Amino acid sequence: ESKALEAYRKVEPVTSAGVRVEVAANLGSLAEIPSALEAGAMGVGLFRTEFLFMERKTLPSEDEQADVYTRLAEAFAPYPVVIRTLDIGGDKPISGVDFEHEDNPFLGWRGVRMCLERPDIFKPQLRALLRASVIGNVKVLVPMIADGSEVQEVRNLFAECQDELQQEGVAFGTFELGVMIETPAAVFLAAELARQVDFFSIGTNDLTQYVMAADRLNPKVASLNRTEHPAVLNAIASACNAATAAGIWIGVCGEAAARQDLIGFFIKNGVTELSMSPTSIPRAKRAITEL
Ligand code: PEP
Ligand code: MG
Repeated sequence: ESKALEAYRKVEPVTSAGVRVEVAANLGSLAEIPSALEAGAMGVGLFRTEFLFMERKTLPSEDEQADVYTRLAEAFAPYPVVIRTLDIGGDKPISGVDFEHEDNPFLGWRGVRMCLERPDIFKPQLRALLRASVIGNVKVLVPMIADGSEVQEVRNLFAECQDELQQEGVAFGTFELGVMIETPAAVFLAAELARQVDFFSIGTNDLTQYVMAADRLNPKVASLNRTEHPAVLNAIASACNAATAAGIWIGVCGEAAARQDLIGFFIKNGVTELSMSPTSIPRAKRAITEL
């Protein structure tokens, strides 16, 4: 079995109906690049930037971030790398940010909500992403979106950063901007959001917990925390329809992206990119070619 699977690493999978699907890697650090390339990752569909901010005493500088994002993009060129802006909250505190105690951290001050209130943290990341875009095929993904105004605020901050870089004579590039579809609000607003962004990426881990109101970390409600539940599948289909109608691409980057029993459903609904842990890639490629 493992020999037969190996052969799929280098494949760029196409379904029997002729749909090309990008199978990309979810990464949490640069150290994982070699294994992702080895497994046949067609780029990165989710680069979790949290690692840059955690387990250290000071915030990472703009230069340090620009270096990390550039090295990531270079490693996967010409494939794209989707870099997610900081997604941290009261359950995962970092030094340099005062997280007050919250009774419901998953419903609290996390992801883009925190970033928009802390431009001193967010803007160096945005500037680093703009700088890395000179060299690589970078796409920027914003987590925890629940309202169109958040997208607009992110765009405004990017414009501010571009002005500053321009004035400083620092080179920067352009990139696609996308949002995670991981809150029920984002699903219900998908038609509007699709007009504001270049792509969607469905975060099935959070989308499942929020649609089912079942904590993704609590084993007592695991029987409800199922992405294959019809309520979650309807939500996914609805976001996919909105993306298709608006002519933007849509990917899946939650754990469910690697599920053999769901890949057909995603692709039937218009998903063209699946991002997963590198070890799952060959199997997913095979499943796609067998659809
Ligand atoms: C998700 O919510 O599905 C996701 C991919 O993001 P994270 O697991 O980092 O919350
Ligand atoms: Mg998430």
